[in-house]
Amino acid sequence: MKGDNGDTADRASPSAGRSVKQALQAAQAQLAAVSDTPRLDAELLLAHALERDRGFLRREPEYRLTDEAAARFTALLERRRAGEPVAYLIGRGGFWSLELALSPAVLIPRPDTEALVEQALAALPPTSPARALDLGTGSGAVALAIAAERPQAEVWAVERSPAALAVAEANGRALGLSVHWLLGDWFSPLPAELRFDLILSNPPYIAAADPHLAQLRFEPQAALVSGPDGLDDIRHLIRHAPQRLHPGGRLLLEHGWEQGAAVRALLAQRGFAEVETWRDLGGRERVSGGVWQGERQG
Ligand code: GLN
Repeated sequence: MKGDNGDTADRASPSAGRSVKQALQAAQAQLAAVSDTPRLDAELLLAHALERDRGFLRREPEYRLTDEAAARFTALLERRRAGEPVAYLIGRGGFWSLELALSPAVLIPRPDTEALVEQALAALPPTSPARALDLGTGSGAVALAIAAERPQAEVWAVERSPAALAVAEANGRALGLSVHWLLGDWFSPLPAELRFDLILSNPPYIAAADPHLAQLRFEPQAALVSGPDGLDDIRHLIRHAPQRLHPGGRLLLEHGWEQGAAVRALLAQRGFAEVETWRDLGGRERVSGGVWQGERQG
């Protein structure tokens, strides 16, 4: 192992007796090989091991780690070096303005998905009531961001995994945000006749043979993979969304950066109007949507 040439006591607990500052420096160097954000990772993991917030690390750089905290930190660093995401190691992550509890049952919310929230907010009037549906809500990130920004909107969210839905519900309770959570497959658990002004989803959209999946091995594959071309779930959502939209209602879907043209074509074929794609923070096509004007457009 890299840097593993100290004495036995050092190996057993490399951070014991070290200051916060020293422990962070050593950890940052170790994590540089596995992470794009080694300093941030080190701070989040050390704060977690100390059961403090990151502000404590800034205020107390000379604080000495206890043996127990050092051992916890070492164990977290080892898991991080094996590729486990920080969000799962600390059980938390940020999305939009929200701090969320996360577990390996849910996909870790991505900054890319903020493009989906932005378009949802553009579609939802800030002052009049509207009904929105988030399909495949996972941690609840998207539904909760919308509930936080549009308090007068009625937000519904569906999730197929009971373990994921439990995370979402706990996040809703912790944040004091009200969402109608439903367990089931896409549209199937919704009450009959319920129609929405907005349906949105960050569905699985990675092709089954995509080599990129290896990097995502700690995350739930059911939240990532969608058939040979990654579009199976998107096709399902586009086919069935019209039955659940009010005339004039909008469908918004996150997708892979190379899927924009395919998703626009599927939306247009199904009869959606105003079909458009928006880019994520990295400038890649990430969200497409359209307006359902009613069956006659067909
Ligand atoms: N954006 C994720 C990634 O490629 C995939 C999320 C998804 O399939 N919905 O890392």
